[in-house]
Formats: sequence, C-alpha cells, structure tokens
Amino acid sequence: MEEILAIEHLSKSFTIHNLDKHIEALHDINIVIKEGEFVGITGKSGSGKSTVFKCIYRTYAPQKGGIWYNSKEFGPINLMEASDREVIYLRKHEIGYVSQFLNVMPRITARELIKHAVLEKGYEEDYAEREAEKMLEHFELGRGLWDSYPVTFSGGEKLRLNIARAMVKRPRLLLLDEPTASLDYESKLKVKELIEQLIREGTTMLGIFHDLEFMANLCNRKYTMQNGKLVDTKYCSQI
Ligand code: ADP
Ligand code: MG
Repeated sequence: MEEILAIEHLSKSFTIHNLDKHIEALHDINIVIKEGEFVGITGKSGSGKSTVFKCIYRTYAPQKGGIWYNSKEFGPINLMEASDREVIYLRKHEIGYVSQFLNVMPRITARELIKHAVLEKGYEEDYAEREAEKMLEHFELGRGLWDSYPVTFSGGEKLRLNIARAMVKRPRLLLLDEPTASLDYESKLKVKELIEQLIREGTTMLGIFHDLEFMANLCNRKYTMQNGKLVDTKYCSQI
C-alpha cells in the first residue's frame, strides 16, 4: 500500500508579540498514512490536533520538518514548500478539510454551495446538480432549506452542510476536525455512514475525534496527542 502522507519531524510554535509569549504548539510530530487508511487523532483540548491539520492544509506555515504528500497532479510534494498556486490547486482537487467551526458563505444558497464544490472539480452542470441533491438528501437537510441561505440555518444544519460540501468533492485526502462534536446522535450516524462510504471508495482520511469510541471500529490507527507531542499509537486493523 502506497503512502499518501508522511509528516516528518514537524514542529510549530507561535509567538504572541504583545504578550511576549511563546507557545510550542507542535514538537517533532511523525505520522505516516497509507492510501485508503482512516486514521484517528484524539487528545485533550489545546494539545495541538488542529494545528497539525492547519499545517497540512497550509493555513499555518510550519517551521521545522516536512509534510510529504503524494499528489495525483504533482507527484510527491512537500506541502511546506509548495507554491500558493499548488496549494490552491490541491485544495480544489485533492485535499478536503472540514473545520470544527462553521464557515459558510452568506450570499449563496445551500444547493449552490454544494453544487459549486462539484463544479470546482471540473464536472458538468447536470452532474453537479444531481450530486448536490443526493448529498443534501443524505444529510436530511429538508427540501425547504435547499434554496435558502445557510446563515439562517441552525448550528447542526450548518455543520452538516459544511461536511456535505467537503465530502461531495470526493477528495483523495480528507481532514476532519471534530466533525461530529456538536451534532446530535442521528446526525453523527449520518456522518459515520458517509465516512464508511468514503472508506469503501478508497478516500484516505485523517480525523480528529473527541469521542473516538464512536469511530473506533472504523479506524486503522489511533494517535493520541498531549502537549504538542504524539504520545501513543494504537494499531487497530490492517486494510
Ligand atoms: P487542539 O486542536 O488540540 O485543541 P490547537 O492545535 O488548536 O489544539 O492548539 C494547540 C496550541 O497552540 C494551543 O496552546 C493554542 O492556544 C495554540 N495556538 C493554536 N493556534 C494559534 C495561533 N494562531 N496563535 C497562537 N497560538 C495558537
Ligand atoms: Mg482543535
């Protein structure tokens, strides 16, 4: 099985100048993910989990180490050194990210939002329309909401839309930052179902879960973080 992501000796610190404070957020992180794996990360709040994701997605510029991604378009590429153009391409076509916070554009309907994500990958209008409807239906966002603006949605509805938008693109690598944290049990099951489907389709996923129990039987490997370090690795099942 080929490696799709190799994080090598990744470190990241923050300096908050006006407070004269220095935070060592990540210290010598090493993670390898093979194609098709579903890897879980858990750990207390503030242990650095989201920072790892933001370094992969290049929201943050990491300082030390390498993040090697085996891109379909570019071949092996160090995300820490990739150009902005390459990062934009990868975000559109290969790497998806569901943040734990709700980010929806205010001036676009739910249907348009999902459709736009599919069109961005270069698919035709009709196909994008069908995929968008399938996804909205899967997440049980009522038909009455499809042509409404997400700003008017409840927290749970916004979150489900966020997840739908990332998943509809069928990215090669999907980063899930606590996607189920604020959802009710029914919605969590919906997310789990889709994760199972993506696993069957061969999507590689790295997920941060507060309640990893919920995903336990799906994970190939589980990492635990503490104070910016990986402190434990559990091998669950081979694929
Ligand atoms: P987790 O996702 O595990 O809760 P984070 O990765 O969000 O943890 O944060 C790890 C540490 O890095 C925390 O101490 C947090 O305050 C700090 N941190 C994260 N992002 C920033 C930032 N942009 N500026 C300053 N400190 C940050
Ligand atoms: Mg976090």
